[in-house]
Amino acid sequence: MKQLVLASGNPGKLRELSAILDDLGYQLSAQSEFNVSEVAETGTTFVENAIIKARHAAIETGLPALADDSGIEVDALDGAPGVYSARFAGTGADDAANNALLVEKLKSVPKAERGARYRAVIVLMRHAADPSPLICEGDWEGMIQLQPSGDGGFGYDPYFYLPEKGCSSAELSAAEKNRLSHRGQALTELKRKLSLIRV
Ligand code: IMP
Repeated sequence: MKQLVLASGNPGKLRELSAILDDLGYQLSAQSEFNVSEVAETGTTFVENAIIKARHAAIETGLPALADDSGIEVDALDGAPGVYSARFAGTGADDAANNALLVEKLKSVPKAERGARYRAVIVLMRHAADPSPLICEGDWEGMIQLQPSGDGGFGYDPYFYLPEKGCSSAELSAAEKNRLSHRGQALTELKRKLSLIRV
C-alpha cells in the first residue's frame, strides 16, 4: 500500500479519510507519527490554507500529503468568518464564543438576508513541490438562525438552518450530515479523483 500523510491532528478526520483511502489502496498516517511541526495558517482562502498545511507535511515527511480546511461564510458579513471560522472570537475561542459573536453580529439582520454556506477543501500534494495539487471542494447552503436547535455536530451547527430540511445541521443524524455536508461532498470528489489517478 502506498503511504500518505494527513496534515491534521484530528482523529475524526483521520478515521473518515482512512476509510475511503483504504479501499483505494492507500495507507494514511497522522502527521503526529512523524513529529511534523505546527505551521501557521496564513492564507486568506481555504485552498491556500489547505495547501500550506499539505506542503509543510510533505516537506517534513517526504511523503505525499493530504490536508483539509473548512469554515462558514455569511453573506451579510461579506463572507466572514470564512477561513477564520475556528478563531472568529479570537485565537483559542471555543464554539460557544464563536456562536455568540455570530448571533451578536446578525441580531439586527432580517432573516431573508442571513444566507450562509459551509465550505470544505481537501488538497492532495503528491510531493512538496507539486505544481498542480489535487483540489476537491464542497459547499452546503443554509442560513443562520438566531436561536440554536439540536445537539449533534459541532461548531456552528446549532445555528446553521437548512430550509429544505426544516431543521439545523445539529439536528441531522451523523450519517445524513455526512451525506449532505460540504465535507461529505469534498470527500466524494477526492474518492472520484483518486480512482482515476495513481499517486
Ligand atoms: P477546520 O477546517 O478543522 O480548521 O475547521 C474550521 C472551523 O469551521 C471549525 O472549527 C468550525 O468552527 C467551522 N466548521 C467547519 N465545518 C463545520 C461543520 O460541519 N459544522 C460546524 N462548524 C464547522
